[in-house]
Amino acid sequence: MDYGDYEGVMGLEVHAHLLTKSKIFCGCSTEFGAEPNSHTCPTCMGLPGALPVLNKKVVEFAIKLGLALNCSISPTSIFARKNYFYPDLPKGYQISQYEEPICNNGWLDIFVNGQAKRIRILRIHMEEDAGKLVHERTIDTSSYSMVDYNRSSTPLLEIVSEPDLRTPEEATAYLKALRDILMYLDICDGNMEEGSFRCDANVSVRKKGADAFGTRAELKNLNSFRFIERSLDYEISRQIDLIKKGGTVIQETRLFNAEQGVTYSMRGKEEAHDYRYFPEPDLLPVAVDDAWVESIKKTLPELPMEKMERFMREYGLPRYDVEILSSDRELARYFEEVLALFPDAKTVSNFIMTELLRELKNGNVSPKDSPVKPAQFAELLSLIKDGTISNKIGKEIFPDLYRSGASPGQYVREKGLLQISDEGAIVGIIDAVIARSPKEAADFRAGKEKLLGFFVGQVMKETKGKANPALLNELLLKKLKG
Ligand code: ADP
Ligand code: MG
Ligand code: ZN
Repeated sequence: MDYGDYEGVMGLEVHAHLLTKSKIFCGCSTEFGAEPNSHTCPTCMGLPGALPVLNKKVVEFAIKLGLALNCSISPTSIFARKNYFYPDLPKGYQISQYEEPICNNGWLDIFVNGQAKRIRILRIHMEEDAGKLVHERTIDTSSYSMVDYNRSSTPLLEIVSEPDLRTPEEATAYLKALRDILMYLDICDGNMEEGSFRCDANVSVRKKGADAFGTRAELKNLNSFRFIERSLDYEISRQIDLIKKGGTVIQETRLFNAEQGVTYSMRGKEEAHDYRYFPEPDLLPVAVDDAWVESIKKTLPELPMEKMERFMREYGLPRYDVEILSSDRELARYFEEVLALFPDAKTVSNFIMTELLRELKNGNVSPKDSPVKPAQFAELLSLIKDGTISNKIGKEIFPDLYRSGASPGQYVREKGLLQISDEGAIVGIIDAVIARSPKEAADFRAGKEKLLGFFVGQVMKETKGKANPALLNELLLKKLKG
């Protein structure tokens, strides 16, 4: 998107739910969707006298992400109380980190329109989530709210970027890259509908080339990629229009209305919270030694960006392909498993990006659960390559193979789909087709070479698409010209 003389400036605050089995300060389960208030205890319900005990896994996950995002890991970090009142926050404060977070000063490289850009990460800190309010309206339209503390004290990482993003596309690319990394690391499921990955965006605008930033508005609770891009675009345009009309942007918190496609003010600066942060007296400072960081470093998997670069280097694939193949760790694994059996990277990539991804997306299925396993996928490609079936047939039968999980070899034999590569058989059909199309044959011989397609089509129709195309072309030309 282009905003003329102006540009957007955005910094994002992302909240990621961690895939730990238990909560951050107690032993309760973090499982989603359980009976309301069944995963609770005095600590996560904030009962007086209950004390928090830090879950070590949360620290490990924070360090993992910090390393993946090139941050420095603080040897000591401090938990702090963020005080505010809300019914889903039983203690009256959220335990978070404030002045001394666990990770600082990293970066994440993104690609937009084939161009690399480095987005700096300001900080990553650990905190607990609040409970959830469920609002009900009765038949006489009076309403009431219920509170479910299952989510109370589930662990979160908050990842705060520097205001380095300039367009909604960059913001989306950043979020996708960050989500991919969290999922690669196996520390967050990335599920936006369930709120496991959500984002607040700080947005301001300025004249292109200006040094100073403008006043920012904060857009809260963006939880789908489509809405994020739309709401950012709307907000940038709104601020530019406002300034052009002589108005000034005010610092406020806004929400996005997806139906109307607009943002609206939720609260202004005057109503902004004063959180009265202070160090959490019930938790010791978090001490992380080098040995621990080093041992976690050794467990880091190959990350999406590294995988992309390796796929381009080792397999000679274009960026477009590797961006898709490496976006999902399971898809990348599938690709390499097929490749081990059928070492033609571009063919494998093409077939995965078209046939396989279409079926997976239709059913919202992960590549690891594909009914067509890598071995069958490779078998299908081999059948095409050795001429047993045509490429066209290979594509046509893919949905059926996917549904049935059948062996490709057996399937094509049973359905009689074997490609006809027998010269005699093809010549017989060609002769018949030419005999019943004398006008076209004469026109072809008189120079209307386009008509070759007509003859190819006729023979293919006769053979239900099974004639070997290369052989057919060669024989047809011989017959028509000869
Ligand atoms: P706060 O504590 O009020 O949330 P921070 O300084 O931590 O403020 O910044 C929060 C986010 O706002 C960061 O992601 C930062 O990059 C972003 N940000 C700061 N200033 C601006 C600005 N002028 N325009 C857009 N984003 C900004
Ligand atoms: Mg903020
Ligand atoms: Zn608990």
